[in-house]
Amino acid sequence: MKLALIGFGQAGGKVVDQFLAYDSEIGGGFVEDAIAVNTATADLHGLENVPEDRRVLVGQARVNGHGVGADNELGAAVTETDIDEIQHAVDQVPTHELDAFLVVAGLGGGTGSGGAPVLAKHLRTIYTQPVYGLGLLPAMDEGGIYTLNAARSFQTFVREVDNLLVFDNDVWRSTGESVGDGYDRINREIVERFGLLFASGEVSDGDVVAESVVDSSEIINTLSSGGVSTIGYASESVGTSGDGLLSSFTGSTDDFDEGNATNRMTSLVRKATLGRLTLPCDVGSADRGLVVATGPPEYLNRKGVERGRQWLEDETGSMEIRGGDYPRADDTDVGAVVLLSGVTDVPRVKQLQQVAVEAKETTATVQANAEDEFAALVDTGGELDALF
Ligand code: GDP
Repeated sequence: MKLALIGFGQAGGKVVDQFLAYDSEIGGGFVEDAIAVNTATADLHGLENVPEDRRVLVGQARVNGHGVGADNELGAAVTETDIDEIQHAVDQVPTHELDAFLVVAGLGGGTGSGGAPVLAKHLRTIYTQPVYGLGLLPAMDEGGIYTLNAARSFQTFVREVDNLLVFDNDVWRSTGESVGDGYDRINREIVERFGLLFASGEVSDGDVVAESVVDSSEIINTLSSGGVSTIGYASESVGTSGDGLLSSFTGSTDDFDEGNATNRMTSLVRKATLGRLTLPCDVGSADRGLVVATGPPEYLNRKGVERGRQWLEDETGSMEIRGGDYPRADDTDVGAVVLLSGVTDVPRVKQLQQVAVEAKETTATVQANAEDEFAALVDTGGELDALF
């Protein structure tokens, strides 16, 4: 499907930057346009792939290009004020070509956390295309303010978009990794999963026509449940060469066996669903689902996708599970992407909200105490007078 990507804040901009790189790497064709919005000049300069003329600085009158700290109320306020600046950039998007908007933001910070919901609301009043959000949840150890920001932003963002796709940084961290390296790796995981999904609806005429290619309308219908979505992905190397012939290291021609291909695909769908989701949840609570089989066309087995699809129907109890192929002739992996839409049993969101409420209460207590303590510090019991 053709998307206009809008990265809001530092994390949002970096992820959109990576989406651009991934789209050209796989020849996906899912990025119609990409815009980065920020209150911090330095963050916009740090981007590599978003064209300079698609970078929008907002809030200059209030923060002069220095960012909003982690103040997401300020992030929301400056976005409201400068919404015309963003609209000016969106005006350049060839919207007749577009299937949807995707607004990407880290929910724990200030700019993206506050600004992304404001922008989503604005876009929905103007355009007929769906506006999706991709929200990144902070890791639990980032601290109270990030958790509180994320919980409040989540609550607002999910209301203002047609569907909120969620990625939880907490689940994807590795120990012993620097923050920078960690984000590079995590961002790759993000763009691979979501990128494969979006590219799957974009098979062009020149590509091999598979048995049942996923269409962008199937992605849109799956996401039209609204609410919150999560993605699972599993892959396996099959080591084919670019022309689809078996390379020497795969060994056996059994790989082309119909039964093997069916079993492999069915088990990949299970692995994708029951493995690490971008947002862990009870799979049974999903309202809709989409199974996409990716890889060299000869490995995309209709029976395997159909069995996987049926299995997911049983797991979710939903009648709205779609399935299809995304053939990629040059790929050496065969994989399954599983989109679960409208999930409602998400312990991580409840945990985030609970910690946020506690953080809010603690902040209020600390503030009240600080005021009392400061009053006590300057109080001389009437022994001294201020100058004026
Ligand atoms: P903003 O610029 O004020 O919107 O704030 P940031 O985007 O810098 O940070 C918001 C949150 O995004 C942080 O709490 C992190 O959880 C997360 N974050 C920051 N950078 C990255 C990144 O490169 N990748 C991912 N996945 N998350 C990030």
